Amino acid sequence: METFHHKTCIRFVPHRGQSDYLSIESELGCWSTIGRDGGQQVVSLSVYGCLDHGIIQHELLHALGFYHEHTRSDRDKTAFSSSYGADTITPIPDSSVPIGQKDDMSDIDILRINRLYECNI
Ligand SMILES: [Zn+2]
Repeated sequence: METFHHKTCIRFVPHRGQSDYLSIESELGCWSTIGRDGGQQVVSLSVYGCLDHGIIQHELLHALGFYHEHTRSDRDKTAFSSSYGADTITPIPDSSVPIGQKDDMSDIDILRINRLYECNI
């Protein structure tokens, strides 16, 4: 959450009766719905495998309204291919470009947050 505070205008604050809010819970697995649901919105960060900086940021990005990278319009759509061994994500236009990391938000993640939420950062 501190990374969001430092790099975006997003501020996570303790719940004090707001009607819409995130409830971070240790349910089964690491997951969040996409975007604001209204009311209590659970972000599951299981203590068994989800308490990692990159995973927490990933789930909070979902809660803020962001889908996975492979759903972007400029990505290859063979995503979730059922063919064994087929690529699920291919960088376009140069498929040899290394992509992906799970340690931190990317510069593009930060840019997209700041644009969506009209941050003046
Ligand atoms: Zn995800």
